[in-house]
Amino acid sequence: MKNRVGRTIIGILALLLLGFYTYRQEQIHYHSNDVAAWGPATGLHPEGFQADSVIGSEPETPVQMTYENEAQPAPAAPEAEQAPLPEEPAPVPEVPAADPSLQLARDNAAALGLPEPPEVDIGSWEMLLANPSHPIETYQPPQMGYLNMTVSETDIQTNYNPNRCAVDLRIADQLLAFALGCKDAGLPVYLSSGYRSYDEQSYLFQRKIGQGYSEETAATIVARPGTSEHQTGLACDITDFYRETKDSSLEDTATYQWLRDNCADYGFVVRYPADKSGSADSITGIIYEPWHFRYVGVEAARYMTDNNLCLEEFLALYGVE
Ligand SMILES: [Zn+2]
Repeated sequence: MKNRVGRTIIGILALLLLGFYTYRQEQIHYHSNDVAAWGPATGLHPEGFQADSVIGSEPETPVQMTYENEAQPAPAAPEAEQAPLPEEPAPVPEVPAADPSLQLARDNAAALGLPEPPEVDIGSWEMLLANPSHPIETYQPPQMGYLNMTVSETDIQTNYNPNRCAVDLRIADQLLAFALGCKDAGLPVYLSSGYRSYDEQSYLFQRKIGQGYSEETAATIVARPGTSEHQTGLACDITDFYRETKDSSLEDTATYQWLRDNCADYGFVVRYPADKSGSADSITGIIYEPWHFRYVGVEAARYMTDNNLCLEEFLALYGVE
């Protein structure tokens, strides 16, 4: 008799425990459904919903933490509810640029009162810098393009050295379009000098010294081998066919003025402008050369031209010193 009573009591207790357990699971289950259906990120809740009344009796459950932090714009991922959340919401940082050099350029441009700089990759071939403080040693363009092949078709004049007007193949189409644009405007174009190898530059530099210039002065007229932009294959000297002499008076020709005004549309810049060049102490360290155009890509060319920046100044925005 005692055993039967005992078993009955144990049975009732077991049923009560099972019932409570089931009830508790369902509370959590429905609760989770509410979260999934409405989501704390939206700020919406079922009608009559009160966070305290639903989970107030179970303050230790992790689920409650979700509602304590419901003001946060966190995504409504049910699995994430189980993770304890920090008591103090972390301050939301400004979204940084993926490329740290771009963030630096934005900051530097803002400090100088310049508009937002373009998202260029300063490690790309278009941004290759060659100057007295950034020698490129014996760098060679990966593949050459020879514009003399198109001369007969386009009637654009090129020089008569054995390479004619060779450039990095990647800018050949753009250079040709640039020259054709000038020709279509009715102006005489002469592609005077494109790619020059380290050895050719060596020859030109030594020849300048042979003419009586000191090494230092010669270096402002003809770049030392390994520091000439012509060695990148990304530059071309362009003149008026009838005024091929390269001196500052070239700026008076209609050809130069058209090239200067339109170069950015083709991705080129006047590389050694008068107000940035002129001596070894100037920003470019080279003489003023209204004939020397450099490819940098359309976006960078427009920004540099619009804001009167030479390549050194443009790259300095991105941290290239
Ligand atoms: Zn040049």
